[in-house]
Amino acid sequence: MVTTTTQEFAGPNEAYAQAYGDNGALAIPPARKLAIVTCMDARVDPAAALGLKLGDAHVIRNAGGVAADSIRSLVISQRLLGTREIALFHHTDCGMLTFSSDQLRGIVLKESGGVDVGDALAAVGSFHEFGDVEAAVKADVAFLKAHPLVLKETVVTGWVHQVETGKVRRIV
Ligand SMILES: [Zn+2]
Repeated sequence: MVTTTTQEFAGPNEAYAQAYGDNGALAIPPARKLAIVTCMDARVDPAAALGLKLGDAHVIRNAGGVAADSIRSLVISQRLLGTREIALFHHTDCGMLTFSSDQLRGIVLKESGGVDVGDALAAVGSFHEFGDVEAAVKADVAFLKAHPLVLKETVVTGWVHQVETGKVRRIV
């Protein structure tokens, strides 16, 4: 049988559950009324970097921490679960700086193995790559502030997480 990473979950999870304490009593709405939008990058750990405890905040992650990709979750976060602040993070050395949507579509088509992926690719649309991290943060904050589905009173801030140092820097 092939060994997979998921087979290594059991031991650590046993220890985690042992130390879980009263966490099972936490409420669904985030205690700090905060939603974080950030990249799925494996080197970014928002809870550790920002001092967030279990139950404090929603963390909405996708490739790049792209605002347009987070709207569905933000509507649920704000309208049903009471968050009123959004902190959007992009990070240095992001994979989103390394490709174009056309290139990625080409890779998917080449590796499709005869499956017709055209409609599915069209449904995904842009992969929302960017060329400048700070400019992308500013554009995404502006996008969120102007978005009709984001509550007008929302406090929206934009940040860069530096994977080289672990430091975060507010941009807007
Ligand atoms: Zn990234």
